[in-house]
Amino acid sequence: MAVGATLSAVSRRRKRGPAGARSGAESVSMAAAADTEYMRMALELAQIAADQGEVPVGAIVVWQGRVVGRGRNASIRLCDPTAHAEILALRAAGVAARNYRLPDAELFVTVEPCLMCVGAVIQARLRRVVFGCADPKAGALGSIADFSADPRLNHRFVVEPGIGAAEARVLLQRFFRERRER
Ligand SMILES: [Zn+2]
Repeated sequence: MAVGATLSAVSRRRKRGPAGARSGAESVSMAAAADTEYMRMALELAQIAADQGEVPVGAIVVWQGRVVGRGRNASIRLCDPTAHAEILALRAAGVAARNYRLPDAELFVTVEPCLMCVGAVIQARLRRVVFGCADPKAGALGSIADFSADPRLNHRFVVEPGIGAAEARVLLQRFFRERRER
């Protein structure tokens, strides 16, 4: 799987970044540290998915400073084409928040979300999506399209690509290599 073809797009979009609600280098670096920590949790879930023979993708939903949703790909195990990490994490987050709208929430996912998952992010009205590596074949936040700021849609959100990208890509590459060798 040829992930990582959109590095230039990633660095281009990074500059666009979230609007500066925080001020000062210190709070920015603290926020970056928190992003890295949440992505590490998502990467652990991706590893569990791989151990179970699922495509290694993990996701975390953070709401009001708490992790309220966790998910990892489970489509094969559950015989469910919608059982992507992001969907499962969003379902758990909705239950935890007792609301199907999560306007202050953020999604951390190890791989660029697909069309379906971006659709779910829009339904949930998330504030921000942080993802690891790009998915050139299915990613809907810059690869095949970018639906984070489409004027035809009624919701826009901040996208932060590239956090934990190298680790996420290694998990995918290892998974598909082992599957080919089997
Ligand atoms: Zn998806």
